[in-house]
Amino acid sequence: MTQITTSNPCAIPFTQSGSSPPASPSPQTLAIHSGQFPDPATGSILTPIHQTATFAQPALGETLSQGGHTYSRCSNPTVSALEANLAGLEGVPHALAFKTGLAAITTLLFATLKAGDHVIAGEVSYGGSVRLLRDLFADFGVSCTFVDVTQTQAVAAALQPNTKLLFVETPANPTLAVCDLAALGKLAEQKGVLFAVDNTFLTGVIQPVFCHGAHVSVLSTTKYVEGHDSTTGGALLTNDEALFERLHLVRGATGSIQAPFDAWLTLRGLKTLPLRLKQHNQSALAIATFLEEHALVQAVFYPGLANHKGHEIASRQQDAGGGMLSFEIDPARVSEFIGALKLTTLAENLGAAETLITYPATMTHAQIPERERKRLGITNGLLRLSVGLEDTVDIIADLQQALSVSHVTEVQA
Ligand SMILES: *Cc1c(COP(=O)(O)O)cnc(C)c1O
Repeated sequence: MTQITTSNPCAIPFTQSGSSPPASPSPQTLAIHSGQFPDPATGSILTPIHQTATFAQPALGETLSQGGHTYSRCSNPTVSALEANLAGLEGVPHALAFKTGLAAITTLLFATLKAGDHVIAGEVSYGGSVRLLRDLFADFGVSCTFVDVTQTQAVAAALQPNTKLLFVETPANPTLAVCDLAALGKLAEQKGVLFAVDNTFLTGVIQPVFCHGAHVSVLSTTKYVEGHDSTTGGALLTNDEALFERLHLVRGATGSIQAPFDAWLTLRGLKTLPLRLKQHNQSALAIATFLEEHALVQAVFYPGLANHKGHEIASRQQDAGGGMLSFEIDPARVSEFIGALKLTTLAENLGAAETLITYPATMTHAQIPERERKRLGITNGLLRLSVGLEDTVDIIADLQQALSVSHVTEVQA
């Protein structure tokens, strides 16, 4: 059996027309086969869960397997199979899997920064990333400027001679603001700055960040990649050999590798990632359109909508809109609206089969002072929706009935 290990994602047309045949296997095929082969010892079609701390060595300086496994903090065959799959799907040579998305980000920061260095990060970013950069790494002499990365000029203006890393996420959590990856990638290249993109919201299937100048792709596999609300995990992908060696060293030194069972669950989730994303995309667009037309909804933020501020840039770098959207209702109705939802669950996670709703003001972004939150667009009426895999019609019906319940109660009050 021929192993499928590489692809050229840059060859994937960004428009859905898909008239020309793909030059290499499509993501849907790669997600199932890349880096995977039957277990040589048993023929098991899936990579076994190598639930072991250590590996017997036949002699000093020798290992039994090609992978050179000795101890599961450094490498493990199940984790390696996951990494081969992630790398092959993205079309890059290297991937590393971690226990959480934040363990991956921590490793990236430890591996690339030292005291005196400067980072530029998006002012609307995942809360955990902000906490790491603003609170923890500051104690080690690393400074960070948080800027509106949707304005490439603001990023250029924030550059300092000691800037080593540009770290962005797009679409941003929870405003769905889009930054221009190609423009930022070009700027990073000119200034010799490492460009890392947190691609958790879309993954390389929808947004091939390496085609737009990224050096590192960051994934919280907790979200779409594993996709079933069953694990926490993270990954770093890179096309830079020296950086990969450094990241590998730091992961081993800090002990943040993914566990074999969680790696196996993530591998299983990956098989359906492109297929699931098709449904997430389709439902999210339908729901965004429904919300946009609803009288009680004040604003909808979804990159797939033509009137989204970042739509034009999104259509250059995204293959589809993704499964995440946010919308605004009257802040006085938020509590009742959430209480009236039947199918949709209030929870902090995203990217899973279940439709989940989050209220950033008191949940994910509660630590940001109210004035600052409002400036960033994280208002008291903003709700973030992770559109699940239930039938689109049922999700819309749930949102519709909850909107009318909150409305009725308001009118009666
Ligand atoms: C969840 C998330 C993370 C952190 O991942 P964990 O697996 O929760 O540690 C980082 N970035 C983004 C965009 C996320 O959504």
